[in-house]
Amino acid sequence: MKNLKCVIILFIFSNMIFSQGVKTFFESPKNVYYISSDLHIHTVFSDGVVWPTLRVDEAVRDSIDLISLTEHIEYQSHLSDIPHKNRNRSFQIAGGYVNSKPLAVVHGTEITKPMPPGHFNAIFINDANKFFDSEQKPLEFEDAIKEANNQKAFVFWNHPNWEANRSDGIAKLDPIHNKIIKEKLLHGIEVVNFDTFSEEALKIALENNLTIMGTSDVHILIEWDFNNEKESYHRPITFIMSESRSIESIKNALFDGKTFVWFRDIIIGKNENLNQVINNNFEIVAKGYNYRDRKVEILEVELINKSVAPMYLNYIGEFTFHNDYKYIELKPKSRKIIYIKTKEIKDHINLEFELLNYIIGPKTNLKTSKYLTIKSKI
Ligand SMILES: [Zn+2]
Ligand SMILES: [Zn+2]
Repeated sequence: MKNLKCVIILFIFSNMIFSQGVKTFFESPKNVYYISSDLHIHTVFSDGVVWPTLRVDEAVRDSIDLISLTEHIEYQSHLSDIPHKNRNRSFQIAGGYVNSKPLAVVHGTEITKPMPPGHFNAIFINDANKFFDSEQKPLEFEDAIKEANNQKAFVFWNHPNWEANRSDGIAKLDPIHNKIIKEKLLHGIEVVNFDTFSEEALKIALENNLTIMGTSDVHILIEWDFNNEKESYHRPITFIMSESRSIESIKNALFDGKTFVWFRDIIIGKNENLNQVINNNFEIVAKGYNYRDRKVEILEVELINKSVAPMYLNYIGEFTFHNDYKYIELKPKSRKIIYIKTKEIKDHINLEFELLNYIIGPKTNLKTSKYLTIKSKI
């Protein structure tokens, strides 16, 4: 991600993603790597309709660094046609195929129970077969969650807002959820699943210090669900803000809540995480006092969006602009000149914006303040 010209090599069974060369979605600070991930995916080994290797190819096409094939333990709709006693098979097939491709596959599974408790993904497991008892029956919920934690998995709650589980679409905690949160057996929650975004799930994440997740939960082709004009132009992506590209570091970052989610045009994350994103992707440059070759008290300023997502800016400061209103849309990877009426020639100003598509809480947007030094006054 850091260097577009490098060739990428990635080993699935290795501990490091050597990805230097896939698309840069968002600029990150030095020594921080924004790992693009989709950690909720199905194949024919549960109720999806594609072979595991196709998921690898799709992820490479989408510049995804990290995926997990999270087959349902309890729900295997193609079992009579594709019998497989070994529930690690999907991961093994994808893993064997991923050599020399610019991404990693980590082992995962979906613990699938009626609501409550609902569905849960366990990522970074070692052995999916251990989620069955000696009679080959799936473990009861709490035993399955404990098994996931025994395998040191990162566990997150899937689609807590799913209308099949919650007819009002409102994510809320049942006693069993409170129990596993209290016992630290649950570490994250999907605030975005497939084509839904849940502000209630975001509230639950913030109040219970759960990691904010967004996933595709794809069952058919990614192209049919996401990469098209009709639905959305990209799959939901969770960016993991990791200190290195090692799997261990990525896993630690997930446990530490260092994520943000890109869903359609919106970016969702904890305040401190989105602050880092905006500080590294939104730049303002003061060009000087010059409007149509006149030396007047109108400051030329360039707004720069370095990211792949648009920025919907709402200026909340005291000035007014000469050609624009306070709402400004900065398209992905674009620049825009605005003229600010500062009333007098200044050597510095502060510009404050609210980012209407950067979400840090229910009905709450990120705010950012930029201090500009004006060197050239003419
Ligand atoms: Zn599910
Ligand atoms: Zn699923």
